[in-house]
Amino acid sequence: MQARRRLRCALVLALTAIGCSSPERPVAQSSEAAPIVEATASAAPEAPKPDPARLVDVTYHPANDSWEVQWRFSEPAAKILFDRRKSAKRNGVWTAGEGLRWVVEGSNELLVPIDAKPTKVFSARFATNDEQLGRSPPQNIRFTDGGRLLFTSQLGVHAIACENNGRCDRRDVGGARVWRFHTDTDWSLRVLGSAAKGQLEWAEPAGDLRGTYLYVGKLDPVANDGVRFLVDPAIPTWLADETKRRVPALLKFYAEKTAIKPDFEPMVFVSRSRTGEAIGDVNGRVLPGLLQLEAIGQKWDTASGQLKGQWFELVAHESFHLWNAQLARRDENAANEWLSEGSAVYAGSEALLSEGLVDQKSNDRHIVSSSNRCMANLKGPIFDEGAAASFYSCGAVVQFLIDRKLAKSGGAFGLLAATFAQAKTRGSYCTKDYLALLEERAADPVFVRDLRTWIEKGFAEDRAVFLQRMLKGAGLSTSIIPPKKGTNDAPTLRLD
Ligand SMILES: [Zn+2]
Repeated sequence: MQARRRLRCALVLALTAIGCSSPERPVAQSSEAAPIVEATASAAPEAPKPDPARLVDVTYHPANDSWEVQWRFSEPAAKILFDRRKSAKRNGVWTAGEGLRWVVEGSNELLVPIDAKPTKVFSARFATNDEQLGRSPPQNIRFTDGGRLLFTSQLGVHAIACENNGRCDRRDVGGARVWRFHTDTDWSLRVLGSAAKGQLEWAEPAGDLRGTYLYVGKLDPVANDGVRFLVDPAIPTWLADETKRRVPALLKFYAEKTAIKPDFEPMVFVSRSRTGEAIGDVNGRVLPGLLQLEAIGQKWDTASGQLKGQWFELVAHESFHLWNAQLARRDENAANEWLSEGSAVYAGSEALLSEGLVDQKSNDRHIVSSSNRCMANLKGPIFDEGAAASFYSCGAVVQFLIDRKLAKSGGAFGLLAATFAQAKTRGSYCTKDYLALLEERAADPVFVRDLRTWIEKGFAEDRAVFLQRMLKGAGLSTSIIPPKKGTNDAPTLRLD
């Protein structure tokens, strides 16, 4: 029991009321976000390097679309514990290597030797799996030509060593971890800017567990304006061109608005899925130095103004996460996600306006419909991991109100820029830092108090009356539409 308790304590992230939690692990400087080791396959022959303390060997087999992984340690370990716990679901889906079995302790998944003898090598096998579990990036992304992405963080583990008295500890926290990827000799392997055929080595930044997407396949990236694109051949030409043109322009727009230039050359993966279905959806996310974008459904075959706007919004939203999650690191307390999601929605709207893809009137309508979604869904504070469904809608309205309040002093972008600049010296930013800077700039204590109460405690008065008043102060006049008789629906606001 003692071992289990120690293990859990080490992993629980402290949730403070609304302070900044201290980082759970060392934060890598963004300039060294992804040091890449020269590809061994393309390098000249050299003396074999000694094995690092932690080595992860990953082999992709194109013939049966499956993966094998071996974790090697310099000292014997009693078991291995996966870094990512939430919604991971490896147990029962992955096959434990020979002589190993799965053990589940709470939300922790572990691989343990069946004979209980400590060992230096652990292994497992699994099939390509693009299922989306919760809000985590999928383990794999499929390209229609057989190419695959692999989310390395899903494979990250720590060794657990135990003493004779039963006390167990993580032995390798923060130490460097080296990955060696292997596949058929005529297939390419790529991690960000580094690529080789058949075999590739990647030194993961020490202490940074965010991971990356490994690409394995037959495509070569194309570069445009300092950005590399790896585009699924099933992406229609109009959409590929749109992406190659829009991403560099967006990066320049945000660099100007935040006064922070990217210190890396971004990699953009664009894939296509469910081409037989009469839908036009999107999905995407960022990992250090990369954007992953997915066009879902058959509708993308034919260009339209609506699809161009939808794609731009995805690209604009995800691109801004390169600023609010990477160039400036957000505090790891997930309650702060309302700020990174809300500001990405806001930044996307500003980019849409700036490109003339929406006009001011439709942006106003978007803010009112976000207000309605926020009213309908928010239970309790916005600053709460449990409010995840409202992070986007409520967060976007908060950003809009701040933008109007600070119209003469740089707007919401100006406040974000100041928050990011402070994060560069402090290591990360959080809601508390952001609201303190707002207080300094807004010079309107009542506005800041009302906003703070909404964020920290939730709606303190009739929600429709509150939002109607706040929107009015921001220049949007609305009417309250009561819910239909006999329903439990929330009232809604309608733009006058
Ligand atoms: Zn987002």
